[in-house]
Amino acid sequence: MKTVFEKSVKGRRCFEVSALDVEKYDFEAGALRSSLRLPELSEPEVVAHYTALSKRTFGVDDGFYPLGSCTMKYNPKLHEVIAALPGFRDAHPLARADKMQGSLAVIDTLSAYLAGITGMDAVTLQPCAGAHGEFTALLMVRAYHRARGDEKRVKVLIPDSAHGTNPASAAMAGFEVVTVKSDADGLVDLADLSLKAGEDTAALMLTNPNTLGKFEKHILKIAEIVHEAGALMYYDGANLNAVMGVVRPGDMGFDLVHLNLHKTFSAPHGGGGPGSGPVCCKAELAAFLPDPQVTRTERGFRFGRSDWSAGRVTAFYGNFGVYVKALAYIVTLGGKGLREAAVTAVLNANYLREKISYFYPVGEGRCMHEFVLSMRKLREETGVTAADVAKGLIDRGIHPPTMYFPLIVEDALMFEPTETASKETLDAAADALKEVIELAYTDPDALHSAPHTTPIRRPDEAGAARDPVVKEEL
Ligand SMILES: *Cc1c(COP(=O)(O)O)cnc(C)c1O
Repeated sequence: MKTVFEKSVKGRRCFEVSALDVEKYDFEAGALRSSLRLPELSEPEVVAHYTALSKRTFGVDDGFYPLGSCTMKYNPKLHEVIAALPGFRDAHPLARADKMQGSLAVIDTLSAYLAGITGMDAVTLQPCAGAHGEFTALLMVRAYHRARGDEKRVKVLIPDSAHGTNPASAAMAGFEVVTVKSDADGLVDLADLSLKAGEDTAALMLTNPNTLGKFEKHILKIAEIVHEAGALMYYDGANLNAVMGVVRPGDMGFDLVHLNLHKTFSAPHGGGGPGSGPVCCKAELAAFLPDPQVTRTERGFRFGRSDWSAGRVTAFYGNFGVYVKALAYIVTLGGKGLREAAVTAVLNANYLREKISYFYPVGEGRCMHEFVLSMRKLREETGVTAADVAKGLIDRGIHPPTMYFPLIVEDALMFEPTETASKETLDAAADALKEVIELAYTDPDALHSAPHTTPIRRPDEAGAARDPVVKEEL
């Protein structure tokens, strides 16, 4: 497909600017560009170009998108309309607090709901992504220990099944990462944890259910070990979709948690955002939340300050539109509805897992909101890899599951169907996977060369992520 610049024809226009009917303003010399190259096209050409581009990708509105650890659920379109109401959309970030009472009320109300959902006492909405929330929370952990004169806590414990952002955030916040082993069931190895938790431990970072889709059933024991060592319990709540309205991190013994509003609370994501990764914490950590905090005073909402704050972590209000969508979602569903969403997400994952369980699931028994299959046996028997299977699914209208993650499973494919997939969608996905597996035994080359239905087939994935070409040199 040609770029919009290659399609450009000199002099072609979408519209004509009407004749000047105000006094001409002369900019000072040097303030104007000497040249600007823009594509020159008619309106139908522009519309056709971008419509064609939009059809060359696969988004959450195109169909089943079971990308594990990403919660690609359907996001109600009504929330987009609400977030775009002029009072929210047109507010200026520098407007005085007394002119922004509605927006500040959104922040205050959403914060209160998130505190309730997580079982925590105080909240910041500032962080703009899950990883940003992790980083913010770790700065708070450090500020907390330092304020107590406890300078020797330089290590953060992280299970080997953890999401890759956890060790990255810990390292960025200046901590040393210590890996905790998983046991045969894929849960935290308690003996290894006891061995490693000590007076140099700042925190344990854990996600529950973990990245294998398993619930850490010894969570209270884990919290006891960590707290006895004088360290804090940090909950990676990106996966709250599995448990919201059912159990609360605060009741499991956690001290801080980050959430991904753009996974669990109905903001579309992928393609780089916008996201929001609020941090919720227990009262004893509230003083270390980033500045400023919205506070309720007699004269309405104000921005409050704290002496101990770990600092500001974003400009202005953060990704405000995402807050509005999350609040709309929470208020629309209510407590019962949130619980039902979580329970249905778990049911859907178990249903799909059960239907394809002939195919090497990892671990025994029930899963939570996602599950992992290992393609190792398939690869050994047919030469078809997990990536080949994923590409084969693309040809059948399904976005690939997460591949080769978590790292502790060989040839992993991780499925997260979410609560918004219907039974028909799950049945069709199970059939598609079966078809691909059968094809692996009869015609493996058809899968080695898949996908056959997309504009490009096998890009260099590492190169595309590390060295993306996002601008055209003119
Ligand atoms: C998605 C995810 C993150 C990171 O969230 P981003 O918004 O992508 O930074 C962290 N932990 C877990 C378990 C996740 O699934």
